Amino acid sequence: METKQIYPLAIPKGKTHKCIVCNRLAWIMCQTCRTVSYCNKEHQELDQRGIHQLICTTLRDLYAEPKRVIRKSEKERFLKKLLDAKLKIINVCLLRAQKNLFEGNYQLVKPAAFQSMRLYKEIYKTQSANAIPAFLVLAEALFGLDRLQEACNYLSFAIECRVKSLYNWKSPNSYKVYRTLAKMYLVKEEYQLSIESLAEDIYFASELYGTQAIQTSGGYYNMANVYFYLGKPTLTNSLYKKVVDIWYKFLKDMSDKKLAEDEEDDNPLSQTIPFHGLDEAQAAEAKLYLKSIYEWWQASKSNHMHFAKLCLGLAFLYFLILETKEAQHYATEAKEILQKIKGGKEMLKEIRIFLKTVMPRERFNPNI
Ligand SMILES: [Zn+2]
Ligand SMILES: [Zn+2]
Repeated sequence: METKQIYPLAIPKGKTHKCIVCNRLAWIMCQTCRTVSYCNKEHQELDQRGIHQLICTTLRDLYAEPKRVIRKSEKERFLKKLLDAKLKIINVCLLRAQKNLFEGNYQLVKPAAFQSMRLYKEIYKTQSANAIPAFLVLAEALFGLDRLQEACNYLSFAIECRVKSLYNWKSPNSYKVYRTLAKMYLVKEEYQLSIESLAEDIYFASELYGTQAIQTSGGYYNMANVYFYLGKPTLTNSLYKKVVDIWYKFLKDMSDKKLAEDEEDDNPLSQTIPFHGLDEAQAAEAKLYLKSIYEWWQASKSNHMHFAKLCLGLAFLYFLILETKEAQHYATEAKEILQKIKGGKEMLKEIRIFLKTVMPRERFNPNI
């Protein structure tokens, strides 16, 4: 990573710079893009790790003065390009924030969420319903940091934005408001209310994406965890199985697609190019759900079809994110479980084929 030189701001009269992480008066600025400022080095470092290293040069190009005067006819095209670029950065910010949230790196969520809110404000002038996902991701990170009051404030912003702007429940992120509400109730140990919010979350996510969609799986996963706190392992288990079914199917379809694509491509060098159809937030989400369920089932020494399915699901996941050794490890574990319980002929066949196709790739994998 390129280190950024920092220097005290020469603040023009009437203009103040605010730190993007904490909103206090800023004294240093990123020299490369000159679009973000910080109150101290720690906050600069936090922003770098949270999002800025990914978007710094894009921001620099985005805000660079046009080299020549733009003709009127070109202006519209220029503005459209600018808007597209901003929306693209917002998307990158939200994906990275989600990824850090799923990985439990709560401190790193804040800068990415703030950066996306800033761009939303530039585009839509006032805080709009479009910023709801950023508010929610921020609220969840603050719940994770035990900063309950601040988290509730952002959650209220999200709900307020929705009411004010007639935010439509058919919007792609609508169900997430309920998921964050459920987290708040969980932190407050109001388990029944948490379950009710998750039921709403599952309902709206199912309406939009279907009951077997990965978007819906988060509702089941969180509900399973609430039942775990309530000491109801049977309910926890049956919901975990649902989560495993959903992700298994999703990851298997993706792996099949990747394998088919690779077969068409006979240039061995192209296999070193990291490609997978998962975005980084989905990969982090899958890892969080499947690994937690794995640890729970492993601790309870369960050997059942779903445990084998979970292991194979993990194998597909690691295959997609190009961690071949891990993929082999989990596929082998799935095979051993099936041999122990003497079942799952179809799945055993699938594992054999998978292992055969994955093995020779090892030497091309740059991660090994
Ligand atoms: Zn600061
Ligand atoms: Zn920069």
